[in-house]
Amino acid sequence: MTYVVTDNCIRCKYTDCVEVCPVDCFYEGENMLVIHPDECIDCGVCEPECPADAIKPDTESGLDKWLSLNAEYAVKWPNLTMKKDELPEAKEHDGEPGKLEKYFSAEPGTGD
Ligand code: SF4
Ligand code: SF4
Repeated sequence: MTYVVTDNCIRCKYTDCVEVCPVDCFYEGENMLVIHPDECIDCGVCEPECPADAIKPDTESGLDKWLSLNAEYAVKWPNLTMKKDELPEAKEHDGEPGKLEKYFSAEPGTGD
């Protein structure tokens, strides 16, 4: 089991989650974060910290594509362990449906 980052992180990237992760397993893309599924120890402390409610346990149904996406980009993007400012458009896009199709970027973020 692991936790995964899902759609509502895209273009929000509040990063409250990275501060609490005991194993520093968040990785930063240009406009979202992902969790490395092999590093996550399933502690669950990040889930309630996310203001966008974007972190889910992979035991929830329908998250297969998100698990694949988290696994794929966790090995391509840089590690992020310290909070940084959210994206300027975060509030505007919070809760918007279909962000993956509309906005996902495969480009890496800048990391720590
Ligand atoms: S707190 Fe939520 S929205 Fe912010 S970076 Fe983490 S998963 Fe994404
Ligand atoms: S569940 Fe725990 S180990 Fe996994 S990403 Fe969240 S804080 Fe890190």
